[in-house]
Amino acid sequence: MTNRRTYAASALCALLLLANTPASARQTPAGEVPAQTTPAAQTPRPRQTPEARTAARFNSVKLNFYQEEGVALVVDPSRGDGGNIFVQGAAVPQPTPADPRAQAALLERAPDAPRQVRAWDKAAPRFAPQVVLSIEHYNRLARMAQAGERVRASFQIDAQFLDTDPTAYNTVAEIPGTDLKDEVIMLGAHLDSWHGGTGATDNAAGVAVAMEAVRIIKTLGLQPRRTIRVALWSGEEQGLLGSRAYVEQHFGKLETPRPAQRPASPDEAEGQPAAQPTPAPRGRLVTKPEYEKFSAYYNLDNGTGRIRGIYMQGNEGVRAHFRRWLAPFADLGAQTLTLGNTGSTDHVPFDTIGLPGFQFIQDGVEYNTRTHHSTQDTYERIQADDMKQASAVMAAFVYQTAMLDEKLPRKPRPGTSERETSSTRRWLRKIELTGMDRISRVGN
Ligand SMILES: [Zn+2]
Repeated sequence: MTNRRTYAASALCALLLLANTPASARQTPAGEVPAQTTPAAQTPRPRQTPEARTAARFNSVKLNFYQEEGVALVVDPSRGDGGNIFVQGAAVPQPTPADPRAQAALLERAPDAPRQVRAWDKAAPRFAPQVVLSIEHYNRLARMAQAGERVRASFQIDAQFLDTDPTAYNTVAEIPGTDLKDEVIMLGAHLDSWHGGTGATDNAAGVAVAMEAVRIIKTLGLQPRRTIRVALWSGEEQGLLGSRAYVEQHFGKLETPRPAQRPASPDEAEGQPAAQPTPAPRGRLVTKPEYEKFSAYYNLDNGTGRIRGIYMQGNEGVRAHFRRWLAPFADLGAQTLTLGNTGSTDHVPFDTIGLPGFQFIQDGVEYNTRTHHSTQDTYERIQADDMKQASAVMAAFVYQTAMLDEKLPRKPRPGTSERETSSTRRWLRKIELTGMDRISRVGN
């Protein structure tokens, strides 16, 4: 289906309203997941600052107000500067839950919050088209409106919805192992990207490194003991859809019961979120035969920067191996091990069900400030030498894992300990609840 529409002065209504958006809301890029690093044993912090809750409440009210007013077009300002535009998925007005506790949970992005309606849901309400302007151009219009000018703006939106095949596909290939070939090491990155640029740093960089890592192993004529399987995921930006589906089909899943109703605490009774996060619901791990044949998954999804080390995701058992495997790369700047977790990308579904899944620590370069989900995510922003370094490190980790006598050590099985309340589970739940396009801060 093709939509061609031209909009004129009626966009002024939305522009005027947006000029009054709180600064914290204007800074929030639609569509991002925090790349938060949480030490495994750290006490959980409150999920949202008062400012973030205020911004979330304002955004919710704002979209519903636009809908009621029947605006022709919504114009959002981009964060960043220099004409760059950060743009991701569309937002749609959300129904307001009648239950004050559900309202509070939504603002807190709590695990027991009702699932939000996504723009691509079949049940999504019809809503005005949305565009994003660079901050300089947006502010110019806003200043004109504030000065009393009768602002006229013309927009031509030429968008095509491809809905003949709604299935997204993972791309998977492997180097067969030898004496332990029924056991598997995986590595990967995601092929899907946002539309502002070509996705060079998010995540063609990771895809290229993963492909280069297996090419290096192949070119050297190495004979890995275990099978090495590279996966280029789809649907990562919509909630790790490709990797989650693959992990569920091949390895298992954590079946999560509906959270029990809790009595409201006094501060919740007034619609205010509780100070402490609600514990994540416990789940039951259901595994498939391949679960026992799996060793580890390595992911790269933080842009073009070189690898500085790796997040161990709370798995102390891998430290000695990782320290040894990093040693030859000290002069290339890769030396850091952290027990901490990182979330928001395709190692999470593995980690969630207790399989060793890791993401490398990378130099930020200009990922968060310039290229991540923006119109500047293009080939020119790739650092060739960093990509080569990352490929060598990834190849080494994958090959070394494939050559061990034993599979890589695992954490305790989820569903049997407090570990299931780990931050990685909360991240996954958060993505389910809110959609990548409504989470603030920068992610993957
Ligand atoms: Zn990414």
